[in-house]
Amino acid sequence: MSDAAQAEQAKADYVQVAPGNYVIRPGDYRLNSGLVVGRDKAMVIDTGAGPRQARLIYQAVRSLTKLPLVVVNTHSHFDHVFGNAFFAENGVHEFYAHRNCGHDMAESGADQRQLAASTEPEMAEATGRHTGIRVPTRLVDDTPVTVDLGNLPVKLFYLGRGHTDGDLLVGTPSTLFAGDLVEQGGYPQFEDSYPRDWVDTLRRISALRHEYEVLVPGHGQTVSYAFVKSMWETMALAVRMASTASRETPSDSTKAIPILPYGPVQSRVLLERLARTAR
Ligand SMILES: [Zn+2]
Ligand SMILES: [Zn+2]
Repeated sequence: MSDAAQAEQAKADYVQVAPGNYVIRPGDYRLNSGLVVGRDKAMVIDTGAGPRQARLIYQAVRSLTKLPLVVVNTHSHFDHVFGNAFFAENGVHEFYAHRNCGHDMAESGADQRQLAASTEPEMAEATGRHTGIRVPTRLVDDTPVTVDLGNLPVKLFYLGRGHTDGDLLVGTPSTLFAGDLVEQGGYPQFEDSYPRDWVDTLRRISALRHEYEVLVPGHGQTVSYAFVKSMWETMALAVRMASTASRETPSDSTKAIPILPYGPVQSRVLLERLARTAR
């Protein structure tokens, strides 16, 4: 089968998690994109790693609604934002994100291109259509912003640093889209993280259990609040163990890697981030 025929056949899976709330799964990276459909507008949450993934997300969106779209980026990582240009060139004008996400995309967006090389070669090379880096313009800070989709208010809010310093949560009347603050099916990604703050932020997400029935992580299957609690307890324990280890053997805290509750790669990154973000 030719590439073109394959591309034609590829489709993103989607599932309705609550009335008007969908999770779209375009495949690569086990990414969850979100769609919330109101009376007048619809909101797309995260746009994929480049034009290929964005097209799959867009096609799924358009099979569900013809309404005008707004986009939210939960944070600045390539797999969540590199599809923005595709959406911009398909009529989207409003791109919401946390202020720090906007800054980070402007600063490090180009450096992230190589991370998309395996699935989005055009994005990595910055050649072809829809491969620009489209930085969000509707910036949210510590004050929540409510976007009314027509009889459907969606709250965009920030609960503190965590997976990055600009993770925006998206809350509809039924569903919380948590971005990579919550990740199912893999270890937490610590690269740009603030691990000590992340523990507190997870505790705050846990406290929202009476507000949102459905919880959608940035990657993997929808999760329960018990999952978030366990993620938070594990991270609190890991931070405590890592801090003790670096106090006891300051010359080589990597000795703690085998005892930490994550894989060796993520444990190493966690130790580095703890050292860099010491408070
Ligand atoms: Zn991320
Ligand atoms: Zn991610």
